[in-house]
Amino acid sequence: MNEAVLVIEDEPKIARLLELELQYEGYQVGKAGSGTEGLERYVDGQWDLILLDVMLPGLSGIEVLRRIRAKDAMVPILMLTAKDSVEDKVSGLDLGANDYITKPFRIEELLARVRAALRLSAASAAARSSSSVTRVTAESSEHTAEHKTGWLTAGNLKLNEGTREVSRDGKPIELTPREFDLLVYLLQNQRQVLSRDQIVQAVWGYDYYGDTNVVDVYIRYVRKKVDNGFTPPLIHTVRGVGYVLKEQV
Ligand code: CA
Repeated sequence: MNEAVLVIEDEPKIARLLELELQYEGYQVGKAGSGTEGLERYVDGQWDLILLDVMLPGLSGIEVLRRIRAKDAMVPILMLTAKDSVEDKVSGLDLGANDYITKPFRIEELLARVRAALRLSAASAAARSSSSVTRVTAESSEHTAEHKTGWLTAGNLKLNEGTREVSRDGKPIELTPREFDLLVYLLQNQRQVLSRDQIVQAVWGYDYYGDTNVVDVYIRYVRKKVDNGFTPPLIHTVRGVGYVLKEQV
């Protein structure tokens, strides 16, 4: 195993604690004490997971996150923050952070979330490679492009899990990694009413400890991109229960 974790944290005591605990758990650990150094170490290394403090001198954690995500949509990034407001969490999550850990944290909880993020990341890498295998097989046996696997559709909304393309009525739609995962889950379970808990577990992972109102925030983002300006609306609120994606009301 020996997965590599990069810790970007300017407080020496916390950085040292994380290094010792992660090494004890068998991870290889790299440390960076500023946002700039963190980006340099990120570029120079092969990392399986990044622990990123939000409050860093110079380049903020949010900016570091934005720059890493511009290059790499997949590496799991867990944000560490002293702040606990929904807005801070959402801005990080919207930029593609996988999870948030609020300081002061219990080390057992932090390690559990690191394990969960690595497990999810390994599972989705496996799913990606098996779906590309399926696609190749499908392409060689089917001659019509429309029958390729990997497409999820609802009406004129199309999503390709392999290429991560999304379009509605032929117009391309740009989604962040989390918005994409949410839309995949809704499409896979279309016409079924999904509770906020179900959505959180499926999209954020069952070890996610945050509020389920993150679901409402993300549904709003996805709706804005997928439903605004198109008919009919596909994402529907079911009062007191959750959400459903379906073509007809
Ligand atoms: Ca800090």
